[in-house]
Amino acid sequence: MTAKAGTAAPAPAGSRRLLRQLRDIMAGSGTAQARLDRIVRTIAAEMVAEVCSCYIMRPGEILELFATEGLKAAAVHVTRLRVGEGLVGEIAARRRPLALADARAHPNFAYRPETGEEAYSALMGVPLLRGERVLGVLVVQNKAQRQYHDEEIEALETIAMVVAELAASGELVSPDDLRQATGALLPARLEGVRFNPGVAVGTVVLHRRSSAVRTVVAEDPGAEQDRLSAAVTAMQADLDAMFAATELAAGGEHRDVLETYRMFAADQGWLRRIDEAIRSGLTAEAAVERVRIDSRLRMEQVRDPYLRERLADIEDLADRLLRYLTAPGSAQGRLAQQLPKDAVVIARTMGPAELLDYDRSRLKALVLEEGSPTAHVAIIARALDIPVVGRVAGVLSQAEPDDPIVVDAENAQVFLRPAQRTIAQVEDSLRARAARSETLSSLRGLPAKTRDGTAISLQINAGLLVDLDHLDETAADGIGLYRTEIHFMVRSSFPSVAAQTNLYRRILAKAGARPVVFRLLDAGGDKRLPYWADMQEENPALGWRALRVALDRPALMRQQMRALIEAADGGPLTILLPMVAEVAEFDAARSIMQRELDREARLGRPLPCPLRVGAMLEVPSLAFQLPALISRCDFLAIGSNDLSQFLFAADRGNPHVANRFDTLSPPFLSFLRRVVRHCEAAGRAVSVCGEMASHPLEAMALVGIGVRTLSMTPSAVLPVKAMVRSLDLTAVEPYLASLLDLPDRSLRERLRNFAVDRGVEL
Ligand code: PEP
Ligand code: MG
Repeated sequence: MTAKAGTAAPAPAGSRRLLRQLRDIMAGSGTAQARLDRIVRTIAAEMVAEVCSCYIMRPGEILELFATEGLKAAAVHVTRLRVGEGLVGEIAARRRPLALADARAHPNFAYRPETGEEAYSALMGVPLLRGERVLGVLVVQNKAQRQYHDEEIEALETIAMVVAELAASGELVSPDDLRQATGALLPARLEGVRFNPGVAVGTVVLHRRSSAVRTVVAEDPGAEQDRLSAAVTAMQADLDAMFAATELAAGGEHRDVLETYRMFAADQGWLRRIDEAIRSGLTAEAAVERVRIDSRLRMEQVRDPYLRERLADIEDLADRLLRYLTAPGSAQGRLAQQLPKDAVVIARTMGPAELLDYDRSRLKALVLEEGSPTAHVAIIARALDIPVVGRVAGVLSQAEPDDPIVVDAENAQVFLRPAQRTIAQVEDSLRARAARSETLSSLRGLPAKTRDGTAISLQINAGLLVDLDHLDETAADGIGLYRTEIHFMVRSSFPSVAAQTNLYRRILAKAGARPVVFRLLDAGGDKRLPYWADMQEENPALGWRALRVALDRPALMRQQMRALIEAADGGPLTILLPMVAEVAEFDAARSIMQRELDREARLGRPLPCPLRVGAMLEVPSLAFQLPALISRCDFLAIGSNDLSQFLFAADRGNPHVANRFDTLSPPFLSFLRRVVRHCEAAGRAVSVCGEMASHPLEAMALVGIGVRTLSMTPSAVLPVKAMVRSLDLTAVEPYLASLLDLPDRSLRERLRNFAVDRGVEL
């Protein structure tokens, strides 16, 4: 936003007086139109502007001039601008204030002769916001060219909150028009990104709109400050209680996420800004809302994902605090609203604690307009097994409370107000899925052997302690990839050696006799550590990440090794090195590890036995040093996610290119087959632990080129086992070999047809 963040306007008596006048007008007699006319006159007089106009959103994304002081009266209800058209349209489209010393010089200035506005130079306008929606635009204009100060813009934003109340009341335009103007009533299909798989049919609950601010202008700022501090104290106490009581209390990593959140609840900068807004004449809840809007606008401009998430946490806290102020005593300010039994919650972003507020038994899915799969809320949602679709552009402005909704996280799509037929279809497929999952669970105790008797080891990928519960549920053979970086990512500072040791010990205890492959810290790229500020890079995927960081900062790696060695306590330990690009890197890492082993031996501590060290094959260059690599490492793990992004030069996080190339293609499968053959010949174990292994069709191709160990997302284990048990290796191996020289972009269709013809379960 234009106004300086964090410097709320001083508390001018004028702004308080104006707010009081507006409140009296709002509460006074007369039609809504008459009150709006009085409001624009009062604002123009108090803000020393020749013009004050109010535009209201009409159906079809049209902004209609509803009231004006200063422009020609004949233009009222005649002048209409599309969203995006002219300066008023631009303010609505960008949902941001705009202040110009000479509006006529702006390229977007749209001249409307009926208004007579050519006489005015300076313009300052702000959107009328209600939740996420733009209800209109409030503008002041001056004849002389002048710069508006940040304080004036802030004052107009505060005033806009009062005017927005009138616009949202349904008195100026009918509630139906309002609904149509600000959101579609038609069915809509929206696409996003899959954060957590699953499908759900349910009813929309808008996360943000649970706490509309009713009273904007304060009678007594002192009393409002008291209300604020009582609410803050109650909120902090309840957060403590909630985090202690939640079903996630025991999970080490989740606690870190929650602790960070709690820290924000005591952030002095945030509380000070609210206090300043109260002193400018707002009620406590309006002040919280005011600061919330401020941080959301700032968030829209921040590109850094870490900072965005921090701002999102602050925004969520504002929501929580609003609930304490608007409904004191209602279940300690936790979500007072009655949730439907099939709630699908829609939010812009959400902090981790917000999700825990919802009754888990009624929460069917989560849809986020922003966010990332590594956002804290996504981590918590995964642990709770709630389907999540993220980055669904426009969902908040299109969804209405109580709308029916289908969330198809499998295909990263959301259906708003779907036709009854669509719902019936999805419910059918949900029933089929449930039946299939029952059939699948009967596979739990059966071996993962092909029809001709070859055993395939199926393991799971994990990153949170709760993931280990899936070992028993799926009867997987072990953990083929434990992403240790998740523990580092969800904290506010580096975990100590003791904290790491404790976590690794718990993992090993939970896994029991089943092997666990601990991948050393794979930070950087899209896996940012919140406390590691200097990781801004032009090309993060190709940058200073994973083993590169470890080799440059050996102390980090040594500490992690120390924790792992201590946790193993003389038992077996398997270590995997992420993103090895050349044999020299493997050697360098091995010698750092050796220094730590020597240190532990000197201290008389038991060394892990056996210690196995493997390399991840994610960077294509390593595949050209296979003999040297194989003679040094105990096993190879192919990270197909990174390997495919590097082999095809296609950023895995960029939606424009991420799906452009198929891993089921001759170049990718040939590459893998070459690696697998080398390992086979040398008797060296090799596994695939990227996403690819989690899809039955891809897994079939991997088995067909010789892979015998697959590590996957836990929910894939039983479906992949069903595929393995229905597969005949003697048929699939020669078939795949016959495909690898084809010039095709993808072998997907051929492989699918093969599976269908041969009765392979996909
Ligand atoms: C991979 O790159 O395939 C992999 C398993 O590692 P990550 O997805 O954690 O980068
Ligand atoms: Mg990787």
